[in-house]
Amino acid sequence: MNNAIGLLESPEAIWEKLKIGATCPHRQRRSDPGHPEHCNIFTMHQAFSKLDEIALVDHHCRTAGFGCIDCKKILYKSMIEELAPIQARAREMNEKAGYIQEILQSGAAKCKVIAWEVMEEVRARLGIRSDQIKAEV
Ligand code: SF4
Repeated sequence: MNNAIGLLESPEAIWEKLKIGATCPHRQRRSDPGHPEHCNIFTMHQAFSKLDEIALVDHHCRTAGFGCIDCKKILYKSMIEELAPIQARAREMNEKAGYIQEILQSGAAKCKVIAWEVMEEVRARLGIRSDQIKAEV
């Protein structure tokens, strides 16, 4: 999929997509001022960049203070900073065989106990004895 960036994509793949990403149509030339509110790259800045960087991008876009590639380089740096710990955690989980399975099984066992307790309360209010119900906990 070329119109989306996956959270686990490599830095190289992310940069390749950012490089060709559409920008504000008003910025045909480097000297043309832009409208960041019309630009997907700016929307991504709002998700990944720090507030001072977003303000800087907004200003330089509107004043043609820098080009779109400069802007994309800032976004790339912000994205890599944000995604690095997520990617490291994903790698860690992939390396531990059965880890997610264990977590799911443990969660399911806890849910089963809670569900049984809730149903016991429901049965008590309805006047149904639990020894009439076959269930495993
Ligand atoms: S400078 Fe940044 S926000 Fe402005 S049009 Fe270019 S990529 Fe978009």
